[in-house]
Amino acid sequence: MLVSALLDWFAQNARDLPWRRTQDPYAIWVSEIMLQQTQVKTVLPFWERWMRELPTIEAVAKASPDKIHKLWEGLGYYTRVRNLQKAAQIILKEREGEFPKTFDEVLALPGIGRYTAGAICSIAFNQPMPILDGNVVRVLTRVFGIAQDPREKETNELLWGLAEELVNGANRSCSLLPSPQHTVFPQKPSPGLRPPSPAPAGEGLARRGGMLNCCSHLNQSLMELGALVCAPRNPQCLICPVKKLCVAFKENRTEELPNLGKRAAATARRFVAFVVEHRGKFLVRQRPEKVVNAHMWEFPNVEANGNATSAAELFKTHFGFLPAELLPLPVVKHSITRYRITLEAFRVSLEKPLKKPHARVMGTWLSHAKFDTVAFTAAHKKLANFEVNRILSGR
Ligand code: SF4
Repeated sequence: MLVSALLDWFAQNARDLPWRRTQDPYAIWVSEIMLQQTQVKTVLPFWERWMRELPTIEAVAKASPDKIHKLWEGLGYYTRVRNLQKAAQIILKEREGEFPKTFDEVLALPGIGRYTAGAICSIAFNQPMPILDGNVVRVLTRVFGIAQDPREKETNELLWGLAEELVNGANRSCSLLPSPQHTVFPQKPSPGLRPPSPAPAGEGLARRGGMLNCCSHLNQSLMELGALVCAPRNPQCLICPVKKLCVAFKENRTEELPNLGKRAAATARRFVAFVVEHRGKFLVRQRPEKVVNAHMWEFPNVEANGNATSAAELFKTHFGFLPAELLPLPVVKHSITRYRITLEAFRVSLEKPLKKPHARVMGTWLSHAKFDTVAFTAAHKKLANFEVNRILSGR
C-alpha cells in the first residue's frame, strides 16, 4: 500500500528535471554527485553547463583540472569534482569508457558511497537497490514512527532495511506488469523545463500497463516526498499521499522526528584577506593539495586567531612590511561544515612591486579581465566580483 501510494504520487507530482529525461548512467551520476549537499535549483544550471561542456565520460577523464574546477566553481565541496574525474579516468582506462552496471563495481569508484551507488543503479538501471539520504531518513522515521537517533548504527541499518523492503516491493509490483518499461518523462532531451503532463485523475502511471520503472521511481518518490512535502519543519501532512499510513502524523509527532539530537555548536573563525593590486594586476594564489578547497584560487589571506589582531599586523606578518593604506572591503560571511566563517578583506595598492621572494611565495599576478579564467572559492569569488564591478564602474 505504501509502495503504490508513493508510486502513484510520484507519477503525478514528480518535478520535470533534466536528468529525469535520460537513463544515461553518466548523466545521472553527475546529477547525483552535484546534488550531494546542494539543492536542486542550485544544481540545475551547473548540470546543464557540465553536460554541454563535458558530454561523455571520456571528455571528463581528459579535461584539465582547471576546466573541471571552473565548471564546479560555486558548487563547493570540490573533492566531489576531483573524485568524479578520477572515477572517469578509471572507467576510461579499465572499461573503455562504459559506465559499470553492477552495484559493487559502481560502489568501488572514487567518491561513490552506498547511497550514490544505490541511486545510480536504481535510477539508471532500475535495479532494486535501496537509498538512504537525509530526505529518505526523514520520511521513513516519520512514516514508521522511529524514535531512535537515525545516526546510531543499529537504527541506521534498520532504516536501510526498510528502504530495501520498499524498493523490493516496487520491484515485485513492476514484475507483475507487462514490459516495456518507460520513465515518467520522455527520454528525448527537451528545451527548457516543462512540467510533466498530468496522469488522468486517480490513475497514476503505476496503474497504466507497466509504464514505469518501479525501482527508480520508488526511490525517487521517497527523495521527492522529503524534498517537496515532508519538509524538516511544517511538513504538509494534509496533502501527503501517505498520511493514512504515517505514524508521526497519526500520533502528532512530526516535530519530534527524526530524532537527530542536539547539533554540535558551530565554531566561529575569522580570516583576513588582502586584495593586493599593482599596476592593474592582483595577487592571487592556488590552494595546495589536501586542504579544504584544494586547487581553488583565492586572494592571499590568513586566519586571525584572536579578535585583537589588526589587519595591518597580519599584513606585515604575511608580506614583511606595513602597508601605506588598507581600504576595507565588504565583509563576507559563509559556512563550511560546522564553521561559521567571517572573511574581512582589505584592498592594498602597491606603488612598488613586491620583492621577488614574496611574489614567488604568494602566488601569481592576474588582471581583473582574467579573473574568469580561474576557479575561485565562493567567498573569494565575491571579492573578485566586487573588484571587477569597482573597476568597471570607475570607482
Ligand atoms: Fe511526512 Fe506528514 Fe507525510 Fe508523514 S504525513 S510522511 S510526516 S508529510
